[in-house]
Amino acid sequence: MTWSQWFVTPAVTSLFFLLGVLTLYWFLTNQIIRFYKKRGKHPDAVKIRTNVGVIYMVLLNVGVQLAVNGTAHSWVFINFQIFAIVFVSYFLKLNIRLWELVAAVFLFMGINGTFTYFLSWLYAIVLVGLFYVMSIVREHRHHSWVDYLDYTLASLVGSMILWGVIGKRLSLSTPLVLWEILFSFFILTIMYIYVDSLMSGAATLAQLTYTTNYDELTKVKNYFSFKNDFNELFQRSKITGHPLTLMLFDIDHFKHVNDTYGHLTGDYVLSHTAALISQHLQEIDPHLHLYRTGGEEFTILFQDYTTDQARAHVQAIADGIRAADFQHNGQHIHVSISVGVTQLQTADQGQLDVYRRADQNLYFSKRNGRDQVTFG
Ligand code: GH3
Ligand code: MG
Ligand code: MG
Repeated sequence: MTWSQWFVTPAVTSLFFLLGVLTLYWFLTNQIIRFYKKRGKHPDAVKIRTNVGVIYMVLLNVGVQLAVNGTAHSWVFINFQIFAIVFVSYFLKLNIRLWELVAAVFLFMGINGTFTYFLSWLYAIVLVGLFYVMSIVREHRHHSWVDYLDYTLASLVGSMILWGVIGKRLSLSTPLVLWEILFSFFILTIMYIYVDSLMSGAATLAQLTYTTNYDELTKVKNYFSFKNDFNELFQRSKITGHPLTLMLFDIDHFKHVNDTYGHLTGDYVLSHTAALISQHLQEIDPHLHLYRTGGEEFTILFQDYTTDQARAHVQAIADGIRAADFQHNGQHIHVSISVGVTQLQTADQGQLDVYRRADQNLYFSKRNGRDQVTFG
């Protein structure tokens, strides 16, 4: 991505090429993430963006390098290499091992047949160095305008050394080298603004999705999430006939915990209860989730479990809470839960029918002395 003439047109063309490369990358990764989500999976967006980003950049670089290989203009994509190195190290924050980077550089030198040139080796070392410097600069971001200065300074120094080396090896004219350095500055700035805005937009969306679906205090899924998941599982069970069991529970005498130890201790009891049960569920079956459906009221959807299949787990959860050590500000707090369990039945018209039955069972547990499980 470079141009030997002092024309504006090629600069504009390559700007759109660069934006196109980034937009296509963003589109591809979004499609892959959406594909996984549609199949009910929870993809790690960062991992996908990183892995796809690396493969994408390597393929693009090999592609463009092969296109100019052996021609008198084998240097025209140098700025594209700088762009790719900065993209992978600074924006994807890739933790690449040294041998992997050296292997990639060897691949390029192999394609170009430049193993015998000292300056090519120097170029390769600077390219690897640029990768590491940009990774370090990234780690020291302060989220202010200084970040842009650090980024520009580091990448521009790298670009100047690289162009100095390549200019010498291929005897390029000084104005041409200066123009290319200026152009690399232009590309790096555009990339900073564009990629940064894409990524911060994605981060905001991820944050919003999280706060919509998760409870701030206990970090488990919230009522909104419960309603959606319950609706989906209810419909699915109706169609497939797979069993679905609902476990509803409420912490006993929780008001007493607040009144005796204070609201913060109450908060601690809520989050510790949620953490213990989430961990327990993870061990039983990673498909099971805990929802905070009220103040000190929680729900678990036992997807594909009959009440009989869930019975032992439900009992173990209640026993686990009773036996757990709740300690806050030097105080030991005894915690127990009252539970209502029910299974979806053919006569159930809607989710509310199931929920109401579980609630009645929970109410029965409360009335009957608390700290117990009622099935039915
Ligand atoms: P029972 O055994 O009948 O369930 O009695 P209880 O005291 O647990 O039930 P009650 O419904 O009377 O009180 C629930 C209390 O939970 C009242 C409310 O202030 C408290 N609570 C609700 N949400 C929170 C929260 O996020 N943090 C804290 N600390 N307390 C909360
Ligand atoms: Mg309660
Ligand atoms: Mg309650």
